[in-house]
Amino acid sequence: MQILDGKNTAQKINDSIREQILKDLESLGRPPRIDMILVGDEYGSAKYVSMKEKRASELGFDGVVHRLEKSSKTKDVKNKVQELNLFNAVDGFMIQLPMPDHIDEVSVLEQIDPRKDVDGLTSVNLGKLFQKDPSAIASATPKGIMLLMENYGIELEGLNAVVVGRSKIVGLPMAALLNEANCTVTIAHSRTRDLKSICKRADILVSAVGMPNFITTDFIKPGAIVIDVGINKATEGNIPVGDVDYLKVAPMTSYITPVPGGVGPMTISALMWNTLHVWKSRSYEK
Ligand code: NDP
Repeated sequence: MQILDGKNTAQKINDSIREQILKDLESLGRPPRIDMILVGDEYGSAKYVSMKEKRASELGFDGVVHRLEKSSKTKDVKNKVQELNLFNAVDGFMIQLPMPDHIDEVSVLEQIDPRKDVDGLTSVNLGKLFQKDPSAIASATPKGIMLLMENYGIELEGLNAVVVGRSKIVGLPMAALLNEANCTVTIAHSRTRDLKSICKRADILVSAVGMPNFITTDFIKPGAIVIDVGINKATEGNIPVGDVDYLKVAPMTSYITPVPGGVGPMTISALMWNTLHVWKSRSYEK
């Protein structure tokens, strides 16, 4: 069994992003710019945004945060989105989710110009991803998972992949990326019958459910690759736990991601990776 170390891999990817920015800075005339919209001041969301802002600046991006009042209306957030869509200096931007409940999240996300949608949350990018369109921008968490597996040289072609969870942020784009990598993909969810036996056929099992200890040893094919996306509150202590019963499952696997230190650190790197690529492609268009 080998641990897929997201922390080290993210570091490696970050180094490569920093180098690419330095290399292209002179010819492209300015650093890449990523903007972040934060609505309200919910502790977790504010923390994620400040981590992204810090990482952007460490890697050589211009990172700009737009903080909107919690009482902002859907139309206020849409106005901000439209402003960033039209602002040429902004290569890409993202909205920290979840937004406060009274905001119509779907209509706000659909307002994002898909070319600047570096978090890959518009239906245009999700649709392109399923069509294997190379211009698709993949949602940051699944993209980060693909980068993590690539770093370990994992060959995916022909594998049976099962993705448990079908959210637009994780499950669906993950399935699209695994399909693109020529896996045979099953998407499972809360209405799936006999989930255990479906998971037991998986050469690669991705769990994005959000329930601690949901994936136990009887879900696992010996030698499977297990990717744990879940971030759940632990019953004891402050360290989050994943969906997988890690201590028991890990010895059965060929590769497994720990929580924390697996998928989580890859997500921000993938966001920066997406923005870097938009910056490069936009500048070459000129
Ligand atoms: P959602 O709540 O949007 O989706 C959860 C999915 O799990 C749904 O598709 C749901 O099915 C499915 N599900 C729920 N119960 C069961 C069940 N009993 N059996 C099978 N499937 C079930 O969550 P997200 O996709 O946004 O996030 C999933 C987890 O990943 C969370 O813990 C979240 O915190 C974490 N996360 C981690 C990130 C990271 O960077 N590491 C980034 C994003 C999320 P149905 O569609 O039928 O309701």
